[in-house]
Amino acid sequence: MALRFYNTLTQQVEPFTLLEGNTVRMYTCGPTVYNYAHIGNFRTFTFEDILRRWLLYRGFELDHVMNITDVDDKIIRNAVAEHKTLAEYTATYTEAFLEDTAALRLQRPERMVKATEHIPEMVRAIEQLAERGFTYQSDGSIYYRIAKFPGYGKLSHNDFSGIRSGARVDVDEYDKANARDFVLWKAPKDGEIFWESAIGPGRPGWHIECSAMAMKYLGETLDIHAGGVDLIFPHHENEIAQSEAITSKPFVRFWLHSEFLNVESQKMSKSAGNFYTLRDLQQEGYQPDVVRYLLASVPYRKKLNFSADGLKAAATAIDRLRNFKLRLETDKYPEGANEKILERTRLAVRQFEDSLDDDLNTAEALAALFEFVRDANTAMDAGEFRAGNTAPALDFLDRFDRVFDVLRPAQTEGGLSDARVEELIQERNAAKKARNFARADQIRQELLDAGIILEDTKEGTRWKRK
Ligand code: AMP
Ligand code: ZN
Repeated sequence: MALRFYNTLTQQVEPFTLLEGNTVRMYTCGPTVYNYAHIGNFRTFTFEDILRRWLLYRGFELDHVMNITDVDDKIIRNAVAEHKTLAEYTATYTEAFLEDTAALRLQRPERMVKATEHIPEMVRAIEQLAERGFTYQSDGSIYYRIAKFPGYGKLSHNDFSGIRSGARVDVDEYDKANARDFVLWKAPKDGEIFWESAIGPGRPGWHIECSAMAMKYLGETLDIHAGGVDLIFPHHENEIAQSEAITSKPFVRFWLHSEFLNVESQKMSKSAGNFYTLRDLQQEGYQPDVVRYLLASVPYRKKLNFSADGLKAAATAIDRLRNFKLRLETDKYPEGANEKILERTRLAVRQFEDSLDDDLNTAEALAALFEFVRDANTAMDAGEFRAGNTAPALDFLDRFDRVFDVLRPAQTEGGLSDARVEELIQERNAAKKARNFARADQIRQELLDAGIILEDTKEGTRWKRK
């Protein structure tokens, strides 16, 4: 069966295809950089990384845009309290986010874009909405009139037809009981940061940020838009209302949403205070690859209950796989190949791929791998394994690791950290893009000197330690 995803818009599992070309145009809502991201946030970002990697595995190319929300109520409040500019305040947490994503081995999206660098595009989008009669002003702020958009509610599958026109909300986050006309452009209150613009002084609401940036880079209709389930309403509902009012075209073909990471059955969140950052877990002695494995191991549409036991089980699973790999690489087996084991390997690869094609069923994919590892170990113990069985088994591990990326150890003594290597690779890519090949070669050499080998593939740059 072909690759397929559950689409929140249609509430169906649908085959995933592109309308044209081979590049998937994908947008994912990034972090609001007012604090450290917690591992609930990283569950969603890890799901998006698995999604990326599986699309690449299946031969697609990607144009993936992730935004950084670097202006909102909380950021402004905190920056003012710390006597910092917006840019100073958000730089700290943007950097921390990038470090954490590198430690978790999340591939960098093709573009990461900041809200504050796209104010003119947002202003333009609001002007277009105004020209089409979807806005009104009140006290210097501009609101979206949801009664004017007939499809409002189609993503969250709520019926908003009876809603009172003209009732407004100024906050970006609210629930469906409070569905009202939402703010596009906020008039500045005393002492608040604002931009001068053709639509008056103010700053953008959260929802218009994503519509404007998504359409700027990816065009009027995206193939995939993803985020956590908490973004379905109002954020993504409002993105549809804005974008489709401007273009009269479908905004997104596939909407994918990941379930929550919970702690004792409650959503992990800053406001509930029940959160851990990656840094907290590292201090308790857990490696980021263990966290990555745990986050990736539960299929994205199932709730994941976070616990120390879960982390320990993840660490054991990784050890088991690394030991199996080491055994394949170091043990000596008699010449020839055992046909039954070859067949068993092919079956396991097929099961692994089928499971991920099935709306990224990571749990089943892992089960296929571990059953294979158990059978292969048994065959080795029984003296049935042959030299010709190692390459296909290692190839399976390699396929697994292209998606899960947990087999290489986190760091070697005194060497460059994974995060630093990723950073240098990004810098090298940027240098190549800017046609600064001297700098790009210099970075390759620098990495080589530190024992890091780069391999440029059409899926991007891969690397390994010597
Ligand atoms: P934020 O920085 O709050 O905008 O959130 C960034 C991403 O994390 C969004 O896609 C949210 O849906 C997601 N998110 C927030 N809390 C959780 C959680 N407990 N489990 C999974 N995803 C979450
Ligand atoms: Zn968004």
